[in-house]
Amino acid sequence: MNAALNIIMPAEASAAPRTYRLLIDGKHVDARDGRMLERKSPGHGFTVSHYAQAGEAEVEAAVQAAHNAFETGPWPRMKAAERAAILLKAADLIETRLEDIARLDALESGKPIAQARGEIGGAVDIWRYAASLARTLHGESYANLGDAMLGVVLREPIGVVSIITPWNFPFLIVSQKLPFALAAGCTAVVKPSEMTSASTFVLGDILMQAGLPAGVVNILAGLGADVGAPMVSHPLVEMVSFTGSTRVGKMTMASAAQSLKKVSMELGGKNGQIVFPDADLEAAADAAVFGGFFNAGECCNAGSRLIVHEAIADDFLGAVKALTARVTVGDPLDDNTKVGAMISSDHLAKVAGYVAAAASDGSSVYSGGKRLASNAGQYLDPTIIRGVTEDMAIAREEVFGPVLSVLTFETIEKALHIANNTPYGLSAGVWSASIDTCMSVARSVRSGTVWVNTFMEGYPELPFGGYKQSGLGRELGKRAVEDYTEEKTIQFHRGQRTGWWVG
Ligand code: NAD
Repeated sequence: MNAALNIIMPAEASAAPRTYRLLIDGKHVDARDGRMLERKSPGHGFTVSHYAQAGEAEVEAAVQAAHNAFETGPWPRMKAAERAAILLKAADLIETRLEDIARLDALESGKPIAQARGEIGGAVDIWRYAASLARTLHGESYANLGDAMLGVVLREPIGVVSIITPWNFPFLIVSQKLPFALAAGCTAVVKPSEMTSASTFVLGDILMQAGLPAGVVNILAGLGADVGAPMVSHPLVEMVSFTGSTRVGKMTMASAAQSLKKVSMELGGKNGQIVFPDADLEAAADAAVFGGFFNAGECCNAGSRLIVHEAIADDFLGAVKALTARVTVGDPLDDNTKVGAMISSDHLAKVAGYVAAAASDGSSVYSGGKRLASNAGQYLDPTIIRGVTEDMAIAREEVFGPVLSVLTFETIEKALHIANNTPYGLSAGVWSASIDTCMSVARSVRSGTVWVNTFMEGYPELPFGGYKQSGLGRELGKRAVEDYTEEKTIQFHRGQRTGWWVG
């Protein structure tokens, strides 16, 4: 039996929890009925935050504020250069507060602090990239329609956008949406996850400090049914940008369809990493561990299926197991931690249930598989399951925990079949020294991103999103701002109109 994890209580544990009020029309307000949500740190067990808990009345006020800011406020009308300047200022302020924001995300989500710092640094870069796109957003002109006609296609901001985000990358994901909506000239109502809202409220303060006009961004904490649902159905909302589970994404789309709103959906994944015998196996083993256990596997992009060639399976898995044993699991606030706490005890129980079921359906726990004893918080040992077959739940469903399912293949056709045999299509990885093999896999896998001899890298310049039930639309990339626009066609006729209808 391993020694229990020693989780050290940080200074925050003996201070009063930080309290966050809703941001509506540039003002911090309490919920009308005074309700509050509490968030306990999953890594330490103490109450880290209280947020005012919004309901339908606050959704109404926030949407109305965003609508007024869009209809009559300066934001959609100002020069793109002025909008870009505010986004750049926001990026600088985020950078200044990087440590504070990273600590809030680590405390509320249980993710390792070093990783959280990387995410906030990545977010700063995204805000700067979005600022650059604000200035290059443009439409089209058509002077080839005959001498009397000029066609102009404008890109106009779509209007009020509802932005709904999950708990696993609280600050990073809102930063994949909001700066692009703002760059386009939209206004927004933002709902972070009820478990990890703090850093989004800090972002709200930063935006006000950067000079964003009141009402352009409104932030509500609350539950999905009370706040998310009316944010989707509200008639004054023109677009919904959602990141979360495929289950809630489908409900959200069905609701948005009632008023034919535009939707952008970033949903779940069941991503495979395929390893061929000619690969750099040392690098592939490291990436297998990284893909499986980064963010405790609570990651849409997790490489949760390791698809390895039969000929190397035993040796390769031996290397993966040895590396896994070296992964530091524990206190999210320890700089050396690689795998932190699970988001909630319910979620831990769900993940443990998958592991238990896998052990009884013919596969076997090759490494880990246990809840780790600790003096505080909830932790799961990084787990490898061998002997998984394509039909098993653990091979098909998003487990969303530190659990790597291993499947094996003998031919490239079989590897591709396994990789594609899932309702999801978010991302995939391939490891081989052969350009032919890599290209065959990259071209044949049905997913929005394929990493070749690397895994889970991301750049603001590159579009990101899912095939199949992993989503709809793309975030990031040079067209990210266009997503938050409508196209308007204007036809200018010169001189006397010809082609009379009645004559
Ligand atoms: P979730 O779907 O439970 O919740 C996501 C958000 O939706 C939360 O803010 C929640 O309060 C809200 N919500 C819940 N019910 C709602 C409703 N009826 N109407 C409107 N909003 C509602 O997801 P989660 O558990 O927070 O996050 C994990 C999921 O997110 C995983 O499936 C993961 O793969 C996915 N995810 C996807 C990406 C991506 O980019 N594709 C990134 C991160 C996470």
